[in-house]
Amino acid sequence: MNIYLTFDYELFFGESSGSVQKCMLEPTRDLLAIADGKDIRMTFFVDVGYLIAADQYPSLQNEKQSVIDQLKLIISKGHDIQLHIHPHWERAVFNGEKWEMNTEGAYRLTDFKAEERKVIFAKYKQGLEEIIGRKVKAYRAGGWCIQPFDELSDLFVENEILVDSSVIPGDFMLTDHYAIDFRSAPKKARYQFSDDVCKEDPNGPFIELPISSMRYSPLFFWQLYLLGRLFPASHKMIGDGSFISQGGRKKRVLSTYSYNHISTDGYFAKKLSEGLRKCLNEGFEEMVIIGHPKGNTKYGLSKLRTFIENNHKKHNFTSFHKEFCS
Ligand SMILES: [Zn+2]
Repeated sequence: MNIYLTFDYELFFGESSGSVQKCMLEPTRDLLAIADGKDIRMTFFVDVGYLIAADQYPSLQNEKQSVIDQLKLIISKGHDIQLHIHPHWERAVFNGEKWEMNTEGAYRLTDFKAEERKVIFAKYKQGLEEIIGRKVKAYRAGGWCIQPFDELSDLFVENEILVDSSVIPGDFMLTDHYAIDFRSAPKKARYQFSDDVCKEDPNGPFIELPISSMRYSPLFFWQLYLLGRLFPASHKMIGDGSFISQGGRKKRVLSTYSYNHISTDGYFAKKLSEGLRKCLNEGFEEMVIIGHPKGNTKYGLSKLRTFIENNHKKHNFTSFHKEFCS
C-alpha cells in the first residue's frame, strides 16, 4: 500500500488567523520530528497565498523568511511540497496587528472571474516553485472547493497540474463559503477524470487521488467535542486561530452518520488504523491521509507516531513528488 501523509500548511481563515509560529512553524517541526530517522515521506500542501500577500508588508518579512526556511528544510529532508490555493489572500489586508481575511465572496477560486483565476493560479504556482526550487504537479483546493471543475480545468492544463487531491468521497458541505459535494465520487483510491472531479473518465487527462474517507458515527463527534472541553491539555489544537463557519455541519455530524476524511487532526487520529484497515479491505493500493499542522494535538501526535511506527515497515509512505514528478 502506498500511503500519502498530507498536511495543508496554512493559517486559519476565520475571525483570527492565528500565528505563523503556532499554526505552521512549531507544529510542522513536531511532524517532521516524527518522521526523522524513518524511511517515510510527508507531503505539505502549502498555502502559498500567505507568502505572496505577506510580501507587501515589511513588518512580516522575518516571519515570512522563517516559513521559507522551513519549506526548504522540508525538501532537504526528502519530504514533499505541493500546491494549495486559498485565493482570498488576494483580498486579505494586514492591519499592523492582524490579518483581515475578507473571505466573503472570495473563498473559492470560482468566486473570481475567469481572467482573475488565471492570474492567481499562475502567480501562486510559480511563486511556490521559485521558493522551493522545483516543479509541482499536484494540487489541493482551498477548503476542498474544486467544483465545478469545468471552470478550473483550463488552469490545470495551463499550469501543468496532473494530480488533484481535493475530493473526499461521500462528503458534502454547502455554506456561504464552502461548496463541495462529493457524494457521487467513485469509491476508488485513484481514477482519471476530465471536466468533473466526481466522474471517472478513463481517458481523462487528470488523475484524482482522493483524500481517503470513511463513515463516522455521531458518537465519534460527541467524543471529539466533549474530550476537547474536558481534557484540553491533550485535545486542544496547537493552532491559535479560528475556523470560518461550516454552517450546520456540526449539528449534522452530531446527529447522523457522515462521511469524512481520514485525518491526523486531533481526535480524528484515533481512526487512522481503522481507516487503513478499511482501505486494505476495499483492495485499495493507495491511501491519502490529510492533516493540518495547526490541527495537531498532543493526543493526535501520539496516535500518528504509533500509526507510523506500526506501519512504516509494512507499507510505503510515499509522496506526490516521488510518484508523479521524478
Ligand atoms: Zn486549506
